[in-house]
Amino acid sequence: MSVEEKSKEHSVYESMAARYDVAARKLGIDEGLSQYLRTPNREIIVHIPVSMDNGTLRVFDGYRVQHSIARGPCKGGLRYAPDVTLDEIRGLAAEMTWKCAVVNIPFGGAKGGIICDPPKLSMGELERITRRYTAEILDYLGPDRDVPAPDMNTNEQTMAWVMDTYSMHKRHTVTGSVTGKPYSLGGSLGRREATGRGCMVTADEALKRFGWQRASTRVIVQGFGNVGSQAARLMHEAGYKIIGVADISGGVFNTSGIDIRGLWDYKEKNKTLKGFAGGEAIGAQEILEQDCDLLLPAATESVITSKNAHKVKAKLLVEGANSPTTPPADDILFDRGVFVVPDILANAGGVTVSYFEWVQDRQGYFWPEDIVNSRMTHIMVDAFAQVAKFGEKHNVNNRIAAYMLAIDRVAYCIKLRGIYA
Ligand code: NAD
Repeated sequence: MSVEEKSKEHSVYESMAARYDVAARKLGIDEGLSQYLRTPNREIIVHIPVSMDNGTLRVFDGYRVQHSIARGPCKGGLRYAPDVTLDEIRGLAAEMTWKCAVVNIPFGGAKGGIICDPPKLSMGELERITRRYTAEILDYLGPDRDVPAPDMNTNEQTMAWVMDTYSMHKRHTVTGSVTGKPYSLGGSLGRREATGRGCMVTADEALKRFGWQRASTRVIVQGFGNVGSQAARLMHEAGYKIIGVADISGGVFNTSGIDIRGLWDYKEKNKTLKGFAGGEAIGAQEILEQDCDLLLPAATESVITSKNAHKVKAKLLVEGANSPTTPPADDILFDRGVFVVPDILANAGGVTVSYFEWVQDRQGYFWPEDIVNSRMTHIMVDAFAQVAKFGEKHNVNNRIAAYMLAIDRVAYCIKLRGIYA
């Protein structure tokens, strides 16, 4: 593969666009509307000055891409990483539009990112970066415009800073301006676990189709952050057999099953999975190729590519991360009969509970955790069934079916609204 082809395969926007094109063509969307749906509404680039602890001034680059407001305000995560690119944010923003439409919640898609390296920054520096970024894009944010949430390397604390900065400018507290914030600031019970729980709900639905039992389903999880650690814990508690877990530092593999509680405690204490004694040590990429029934990539994008897709031994792939599989890898997995629960379905439990959080903030009335979990489960089970039905009706794989379902819903709203001016 040439360097150009390789970088194209790894482009999150190109991956989204390749799937979009197949789905839009199958739906027979006319060319002008198709081009509109494929293109983001708005891309914001900011260069933010931040005073560092050592007295120097540094400039950080940040992005916010708003893909669509056809079905409601934009919704999407904010990530911090040294390798954030506009291409990635653009692709992920569009994926958020499709994800919200798959689970039929009234949002469009957005995504934000700042190029920075969180482990090398102090809390004070991270707070100043977050506040200045928020202030720079403030006119484009708000409960009715665009509602950020945590993503890679951001968390409840980050959302508290975004909410506070937004509120200071508005001169009153606006809890509905972000989701994934602490419960005591208008967060929702169940949000922290929601993405991982949603992955398990879709895994359960897939198991029912195959007639598999949880206890005999061997699971490997890549990533042990917000999504991966919660998915591993909940699935372990529900009776799945977790045989491999890795984060960026590597991980652990044990065919007899991993003590997930022990692994959580180890990670809390050591901030890494490296060195955990409950199995053999294994590399972060290597773990994807181990023998298992269910593989749950929950770390980062483009980890399953044309280079390693033929080595994946799992029969079921549940995508906790966004865009973990590239389009050429899709084809390889499809040919090999791997059942894929695509990211815009599998990890939509997070945005679904974010929607509940936004609703609760607007109501000023907070729901018990069992209500949050059961409503999320209901939506995820329904979305799984609708994607599977769409796939059967149109004779396409689950990913294209999910895209078709989503694009159809968004296109319908645009047709009803018409094009302004
Ligand atoms: P996080 O920062 O909390 O955790 C990321 C984890 O992945 C860490 O354990 C890290 O060590 C590991 N990791 C990173 N790069 C890796 C690599 N190359 N190989 C192996 N492990 C690696 O992030 P998160 O919030 O858990 O998000 C993970 C993925 O899920 C991202 O793709 C994100 O966009 C997606 N996602 C997150 C949410 C959410 O609610 N947080 C919702 C939907 C989708």
